[in-house]
Amino acid sequence: MKFSQMEYKRPGLDEIKAGLSRMVKQLEQAVSFQEAERVFLEKEAQTARVQTMFTLVFIRHTIVTRDPFYTVEQEYADSALPVIEEAVQQWNAALLASPYRAEFEAKYGSVMFVNLELEKKTFDASIISSLQRENALVTEYTDLLASAQIPFEGGLYTLAQMVPLKLDRCDSRRLAAWKAEGAFYNAHADKLDAIFAEMTSLRDAMGRALGFDNYLGLGYCRMTRNCYGPAELERFRENVRRHVVPLAERLKAEQARRIGRPYPLDYADDALSFRSGNPVPCIDSEGILAAGRDFFHSLGDETAQFIDFMFDNELLDVTARKGKAGGGYCTELYAYKSPFIFANFNGTADDIGVITHEAGHALNSYLARDILPLANQSPSAEACEVHSTSMEFFADTYAETFFGSGARKYLYAHLADLITFIPYGTQVDHFQHLVYEKPDMTPGQRHDAWRELTAVYMPWLRLDGAIPFYGEGRSWQQKHHIYENPLYYIDYCLADAVVLQLWAEMLENRGAAWEKYLRYTRLAGTKTFIGLIEAAGLKTPFEDDTLRAVCEKAAQWFDTFDTAGIE
Ligand SMILES: [Zn+2]
Repeated sequence: MKFSQMEYKRPGLDEIKAGLSRMVKQLEQAVSFQEAERVFLEKEAQTARVQTMFTLVFIRHTIVTRDPFYTVEQEYADSALPVIEEAVQQWNAALLASPYRAEFEAKYGSVMFVNLELEKKTFDASIISSLQRENALVTEYTDLLASAQIPFEGGLYTLAQMVPLKLDRCDSRRLAAWKAEGAFYNAHADKLDAIFAEMTSLRDAMGRALGFDNYLGLGYCRMTRNCYGPAELERFRENVRRHVVPLAERLKAEQARRIGRPYPLDYADDALSFRSGNPVPCIDSEGILAAGRDFFHSLGDETAQFIDFMFDNELLDVTARKGKAGGGYCTELYAYKSPFIFANFNGTADDIGVITHEAGHALNSYLARDILPLANQSPSAEACEVHSTSMEFFADTYAETFFGSGARKYLYAHLADLITFIPYGTQVDHFQHLVYEKPDMTPGQRHDAWRELTAVYMPWLRLDGAIPFYGEGRSWQQKHHIYENPLYYIDYCLADAVVLQLWAEMLENRGAAWEKYLRYTRLAGTKTFIGLIEAAGLKTPFEDDTLRAVCEKAAQWFDTFDTAGIE
């Protein structure tokens, strides 16, 4: 069905709650697995219907934020969802306690139960007011950043509008942009410190209230870490330091030489990959969409059907328009078995990312559309980033179509950016572990910790205070995830360790790499991250050899990459 024809009808709160409590009773009273399963499937159908309505509201509200009808409906959804959540908790408890659990596991897999157990550990009525306060602090932080009006060259700029200026090819203009943005953050330094200090102690208290030593145990459950723990992550961070940091250092030293700037780099120089500027698409948004469609056709019949389904049913809204919300996302409308991609094309290489990265997420939803329970249609966050980030690399064969004469620059930067991102993302994770292990740190101690970690993970960066905020070791405060989604960031790095294996295989045997990717993606959320990796015949990020092997391969690739003409 076309997106415009999908009919919205406000889900009635009382009806939903009554339905759920009836189903909880029926599940509890079921005298056979068949009976319990019938209720389970009815609950799944209700979830699909209700979630689809709220997702329709969300999508239509972000497409036209001022639409009065969907503005009211979004407010309704915001107030209704927590109430429904409470009723869902009762259903989850009943399912976990069901005497037919073994039969459910045999038919629907055990991941659903493992994840419900984790979810159960994250909530208790005693922390409701702390959760509300946490949400309020997140809002305060996002509002503060959204309010930015940064004076630059006589105009006023938002943080998003500063991004292209911070990449300017002119050294003095680029540096001035970094300084102007840093000055904004520094002007709000006390507020940023205070919000985070309160968040940290709030999260620590919630962790302890739920029986953990500090926030970390709770945070792992919140992130659905269902197949690895702190020890594995510690080992991963160690392997990043041992194998990825030296390669990233080499790439950054080469970058400094290429752009003719001193090494170690300051933040402003770190942002400029090429003297001639970053590669930009050589085709307009219509052209990018057409080329993206063609790319998915080139991959095979199933992906061709997928992308045609997306286009024919209006399941992409990617052009930037006035009144449309910012950013991008991929979501799914369960009742219509349809993924949906939302983005704002801006004429940069990011536009290609939308049609490759987000479409990778959408392909997962499409391939998983018949899987029940719905919760198994996609895996945990780190596993999902393999769907999307790998697709970006499969699309490297279309670099010339997308970037024309800038294709070689794009190919070089695509891999180099992934390699240099891993130490940064890992540093974010290491920092958060320190912060939640020692919730009593002062703001100054947190900035010192960030500085010390920067010397370890990003030794190519100069922290000499020359650029306000950034040069002072406070730059972690602009990373939304640290405030909004604690412990969510290593997910990208763990995914990259898998993506790099597929990338290495693409060089040898593209067909075999594609088969592994499809095997992994088709299983959707029916297995844990490690389960998916093993089923696809890949290595987990936690084995000592994984990062060593892919970094060796990447180093060879850079050794033989002809950099003539990509200055
Ligand atoms: Zn993604």
